[in-house]
Amino acid sequence: TLDGATPPSSAGAVRYEDLGGLGRVVERIREVVELPLRHRDAFARLGITPPRGVLLVGPPGTGKTLIARAVATESRAAFIAVNGPEIMDRYYGASEGALRAVFERARKEAPAIIFIDELDAIAPRRDGLSGEKQVEKRLVAQLLTLMDGLGGRGDVVVLAATNMADMLDPALRRPGRFDREIRVDPPDEAGRREILAVHSRAMPLDADVDIGQLAALTAGFVGADLAALCREAAIAALRRAGALEAADIAPGLTVTAADFAAALSGIVP
Ligand code: ATP
Repeated sequence: TLDGATPPSSAGAVRYEDLGGLGRVVERIREVVELPLRHRDAFARLGITPPRGVLLVGPPGTGKTLIARAVATESRAAFIAVNGPEIMDRYYGASEGALRAVFERARKEAPAIIFIDELDAIAPRRDGLSGEKQVEKRLVAQLLTLMDGLGGRGDVVVLAATNMADMLDPALRRPGRFDREIRVDPPDEAGRREILAVHSRAMPLDADVDIGQLAALTAGFVGADLAALCREAAIAALRRAGALEAADIAPGLTVTAADFAAALSGIVP
């Protein structure tokens, strides 16, 4: 690696520096989540109610999970993740119990951030649900009860990701529940450049690699696509070095513009 740089989101804790092209989002989440978590007493003194629920709204692969992990790290809060479809998959009646256990754990480990990925799977609009969708109805009700039960202590914040905010049960959007919404849009060219820089910072890049040009060539790519592009370019370099047959790889091996071009032809955003 260069200058001891660590690759992003590798096993360890995610930091704000691992996020590319999300400057405005990070600014907003710091105000809405990090600030109240870190200065609970000041918030109480000023009579401000800290938020209990924050929605991250945007298409897949734009970094919503990454943002949630980063704000937990930077706020020194425990991070407890729940996957919407997974919790729905439990046998009859077990979903609510699993959700209660998550909130219980968050209380114990507070300050804590609960992250619910794909909230729409748990909490779709109740009016449109037919008879056999009773599980969802009960689970929405359970989630609302648990969030109301958090009270005003502000040491547990629920972050939830969704692709479409208007698919959610409107009861979830009332004050004291998910009453803040942060949009996470696909990156523009400058954003893609930042994301590519994050994902290639631990790679030995050849001098012919032009990140700015790659950013221009990748319109329509989200963060997850750009991460895959960098990974595939590195694999192309290994392939070029005959890594499968070779006993060891030359320590001077770099990832070149041609490796990125090869990777680019294989990725459909
Ligand atoms: P989904 O809705 O599909 O869960 P998501 O918005 O939660 O998607 P993540 O899971 O956070 O997206 O992103 C997947 C991977 O893509 C991340 O682990 C990271 O490697 C990369 N990535 C996505 N967005 C960014 C970004 N803005 N900066 C850096 N890396 C990113």
